[in-house]
Amino acid sequence: MLELGEDTPFDEPAFYQRGEDCVFDKLHEECGVFALYGHPEAANLVYLGLYALQHRGQESAGIAASDGRKIHSVRKMGHVADIFTPDVLNQLPGECAIGHTRYSTAGETSLRNAQPLSVACSKGQVAVAHNGNLTNAIELRRDLEEDGSIFQSTSDTEVVLHLVARSRERTLAGALRDALLQIEGAFSLVFLAEDRIIVARDPHGFRPLAMGTLELASGATATVFASETCAFDLIGATYTGDVQPGEMVIVGPEGMTREFYTRPEKPAHCSFEHVYFSRPDSIVFGKAVAESRERMGRLLAREHPVDADVIVPVPDSGVAAAIGYSSESGIPYRQALIRNHYVGRTFIEPSQAIRDFGVKLKLNPVRHLLEGKRVVLVDDSIVRGTTSRKIVRMVRSAGAREVHMRISCPPTISPCYYGVDTPSLHELIAANNSLEQIREFIEADSLAYLSLESLRDSVRDSDDHFCYACYTGHYPTLIQIDEVITAKTGCC
Ligand code: AMP
Ligand code: SF4
Repeated sequence: MLELGEDTPFDEPAFYQRGEDCVFDKLHEECGVFALYGHPEAANLVYLGLYALQHRGQESAGIAASDGRKIHSVRKMGHVADIFTPDVLNQLPGECAIGHTRYSTAGETSLRNAQPLSVACSKGQVAVAHNGNLTNAIELRRDLEEDGSIFQSTSDTEVVLHLVARSRERTLAGALRDALLQIEGAFSLVFLAEDRIIVARDPHGFRPLAMGTLELASGATATVFASETCAFDLIGATYTGDVQPGEMVIVGPEGMTREFYTRPEKPAHCSFEHVYFSRPDSIVFGKAVAESRERMGRLLAREHPVDADVIVPVPDSGVAAAIGYSSESGIPYRQALIRNHYVGRTFIEPSQAIRDFGVKLKLNPVRHLLEGKRVVLVDDSIVRGTTSRKIVRMVRSAGAREVHMRISCPPTISPCYYGVDTPSLHELIAANNSLEQIREFIEADSLAYLSLESLRDSVRDSDDHFCYACYTGHYPTLIQIDEVITAKTGCC
């Protein structure tokens, strides 16, 4: 059985070890990106877009805006609403802008890694924001440094800017093409130049990148790009489709051009975006997340029924699946765990240790809904198992007679190298333990996960266009990491 510290919270520092000389503080970051072209209040709208994407990264945020001649940029640690006060937004004039929210759990979390990153080179000023993770960044950075490049950050995204600056191509679009052909892994990138926005997606389309339009009172139309469509809803933009895997889109004074900078590979859209990461009110990879999650719950109820009195979601991640489980099983749905949404990072903990303090800060059980009941708890995933154990204990101590845990995806057995923050292999409870051992660890009366087949069904993946590597260990691209060396296997 894996030794897991009781008080290890999920969001504790954790990162992949790639050798002692590794220059990147972490190799996976969860992020949200937004870009807008053609609106006099570009920065204000990017701010609103980032506000809607806050769940994709809460550590730092930034906006870069261009007034047509110069790029102005603000990057700070903290939440979007705290950083971008009216005074700060006034420092960001212009009609095109990009923005970024970033989450990093490990190593150096300093401001210099906050995005958008920018550079001034022979192709002009360029700023970039990235969602994803470059799997060949270490090798590229080593080569660039040997050639004299001096890096300012420890973020893999900076490699892209150095490749652009060094390209022999004379135009920015040409230099970007050059850079995009050298990077590998997962990337949804948004670039800002003095007079245009350029966006691009990796050839597998791991991470989402939606496109939309926004009508102005003047009759003109602005173009918007975002990690998730919930950002369009907030600013009143219309979702028109996705940037395609392997595609580059340029929006400038001459209009919009779309081109494939490379041959698209077999798509490998991240299934975890639908399981957990994206907001349920978003359309991701052209599919409604809420619909996927409810279907996960329904199929989970069919595959793993329980004779129980009440279905309780672990808020907020288990809500949609619990609704699906309840409607399929006919067992009533009850919000018997209440989440405090206002838990901030600056919260001062009492000096005297209180048992399970961390989880109590976030969740509180509703005793009269649980007392004497046989409870089915529904959550999206078990990573280390420590959160589930605390919640099972909490529900039991609130009087539940039985506690059954149901998880709306298969066991997480392998880390993600494409931009989702999962801990290393030895910390993943399902990578090292049997189902029965995990059940015992989380102290549940029973435990069951959704099958891979049902996850596929839930995300409507009839064409085999999704990545499931964290559930199967079969990575859609070649990954060479100390911890795991896997051949290109195709997406499971
Ligand atoms: P654990 O205690 O490590 O098993 O944590 C499981 C909880 O973490 C579940 O409630 C998930 O909703 C949540 N979770 C799963 N994956 C992630 C992730 N990549 N980032 C943040 N939270 C996550
Ligand atoms: Fe998503 Fe998992 Fe694939 Fe990473 S490994 S891209 S989290 S499905």
